[in-house]
Amino acid sequence: MPQAFQVPRGTQDVLPPTSTAWQHAEASFREVCHRYGYEEIRTPVFEEAALFARGIGDVTDIVSKEMYVFEDRGGRHLALRPEGTAGVVRAFIQHGLAAPKAVWKVYYIISIFRYERPQAGRYRQSHQVGVECFGAPGPDADAEVIALNMAWYDSLGISDHGLTLNSLGCPVCRPSHREALQSALRAVAPQLCETCQGRIDRNPLRVFDCKSPECKALLAGAPSTLDHLCPGCQAHFDTLRTTLEALELPYEIDPRLVRGLDYYTRTAWEVKFTGLGAQDALCGGGRYDGLVEGLGGHPTPGIGFAAGIERALLTLAELGIEAPGALPRGVFVAGLGDKARGRALLLAEGIRRAGVRAETDYFERGLGAQLRLADRLAARYAVILGDDELASGQATVRDLESGVQEAVALDAVPEWLRARCVA
Ligand code: AMP
Repeated sequence: MPQAFQVPRGTQDVLPPTSTAWQHAEASFREVCHRYGYEEIRTPVFEEAALFARGIGDVTDIVSKEMYVFEDRGGRHLALRPEGTAGVVRAFIQHGLAAPKAVWKVYYIISIFRYERPQAGRYRQSHQVGVECFGAPGPDADAEVIALNMAWYDSLGISDHGLTLNSLGCPVCRPSHREALQSALRAVAPQLCETCQGRIDRNPLRVFDCKSPECKALLAGAPSTLDHLCPGCQAHFDTLRTTLEALELPYEIDPRLVRGLDYYTRTAWEVKFTGLGAQDALCGGGRYDGLVEGLGGHPTPGIGFAAGIERALLTLAELGIEAPGALPRGVFVAGLGDKARGRALLLAEGIRRAGVRAETDYFERGLGAQLRLADRLAARYAVILGDDELASGQATVRDLESGVQEAVALDAVPEWLRARCVA
């Protein structure tokens, strides 16, 4: 026998019935986005690799170590998207969507690809929902995007948000923080891990992402961006905080929250769920006022977030929350005997055409076995067709919840069921 194929390392199949939970998570997200006035965008799964290098930053782990890059047959240097924002920004610029006093609000549901070491909650192909809002410079947009983010968790039943917030400043105030941080880091450089030592000159903010307890202890008193905010960034942050309080969205300030991506300015936030262990980040978001211009567009402020679908579902499992059935329950049409089985097939098709889910038996089972199958398929009604029913022209329709049966004229069955099964 040839060796059986397996999914590539770090990827997984989503099989039924688990796919119902995915559909539920995605449908809730679409519904929430609709409420906040966001429309769907779909961009290609691969883009020019340089887009991500410029948009995310080529010193980040995502670009330097984790991207799936390849050359296509035409010699183009491409990459599977490692995140959603860069492609959306590229589309915004390419289609000339910037306009004065106009806001463009889009959402996406995508797979992302990162060559990371797989572990519980971390995959090489994972899935995100996210939004981007272009053109709105003020903290009201930050509050709206954070509220949308929390509304999705609420709609899933994750009510303890664990929201942490920080401000990373802007090109005006970042240099003074960077300098202060670099000199503090140089003072303890020999005691820092090798990775952090390498970050001092290239990307000092990223030292706060280090998981090593020694580095964490050394960084405890390191200067934070919050101590260096310029008046504009301070006012933006203060107003956002007041607005979140007015919206009753609890948060904690975490001056060590820096996000892995380079393009963030001012607001950054994260949601964590501690029950998930090492991979506890549910989502990350922030403002990226410099990104559109950095990728060649008109200067346009932007803000957005991306949230992992797998981790949202792992959180639901951890909380013992089951996804509701995605679609209305259906009907089982039980045919008994050759003639009735032929008629059952036609009737099932008529019921489906009337908009109701209908299933039949494929194995000439007896009535008891067919009704047990109807039960397993969570059917709401069973339609029973035997020789007697064919002779009388009336099917027996059994309500599988109450057990009550009634006779319904064969031709009227699809409509009878439609009236009861389709909301
Ligand atoms: P990021 O784009 O890194 O800010 O990621 C946003 C969210 O996507 C994270 O908080 C996770 O929930 C999810 N995520 C990112 N990378 C992975 C991965 N490799 N496996 C599973 N989820 C991921």
